[in-house]
Order: sequence, then C-alpha cells, then structure tokens
Amino acid sequence: MEECIFCKITKGEMDAEVVYSDDRVVAFRDINPQAPVHVLVVPRKHVRSVFDLSPEDYDLLGRIFQVAKRVSEEEGIAGSGVRILTNVERGAGQSVFHLHFHVMGGRQMHWPPG
Ligand code: 5GP
Ligand code: ZN
Repeated sequence: MEECIFCKITKGEMDAEVVYSDDRVVAFRDINPQAPVHVLVVPRKHVRSVFDLSPEDYDLLGRIFQVAKRVSEEEGIAGSGVRILTNVERGAGQSVFHLHFHVMGGRQMHWPPG
C-alpha cells in the first residue's frame, strides 16, 4: 500500500514546516494556508478520521487539543480567536485520509464556514 502523505511527514520522510513534535503528535504548517496561521495537528498513529478512533485512542484526542492550544499560544493567536476543526469524509472536505485537526487564526473567521 502506498503510504499516506501525513505518515510520511510524521516519520520525517517528507518535508514539512514542523512547529511541534512529540512521541504521539506532530504539528506542521498547512501547505495551502487559509489563514495567516494554519497549522495541522496530526497523530503519529494512522487513523482515517476522528470516526475511526477506538476508545483506547480517546486520550490521544485530549493530547491533540493540548497541542492545538500550545501551538495557538506560540503563534500568538490564542487570545484573538482560533478555529479548530476536522473534516470527516469527502462531503465535508476531507482530502487527506489521515486524521488531522486544522488550527487556524490570525484573521476574523467567518460562520458558517461554507
Ligand atoms: P482536509 O482537506 O483533508 O481537511 O485537509 C488537508 C489539508 O492538508 C489541506 O488543507 C491541504 O492544504 C493540506 N496538505 C495537503 N498536502 C499537504 C502536504 O504535502 N504538506 C502540507 N504541509 N500540507 C498538505
Ligand atoms: Zn497516515
């Protein structure tokens, strides 16, 4: 099976601008940013989407949100406004099938996102 691009990035086999990394989670800048700050927070474990997590993985979600907060603080957007979202399947806009959370800010975010 062709390995997915986010697995390659988390393993360091493909370049990305990594802003945070630990034994379970990696955060890197989106290649096509939709806001002044647009970071993807990704588990090292390959999971298709948030719906494919098993109960043993749920603490990983907490860890991901801790990292999202830390990155937001480091990027200087924690106080001004941060959108954290994950797309599930193509109809919602998912294009990379390795779980990731978008962490976006640095501009006024609009609602609904469309
Ligand atoms: P999705 O559409 O699945 O919610 O989000 C996938 C995101 O990954 C998109 O915002 C897209 O710009 C980003 N992306 C796709 N390929 C790469 C890549 O090779 N490197 C980086 N840094 N981001 C990528
Ligand atoms: Zn993967």
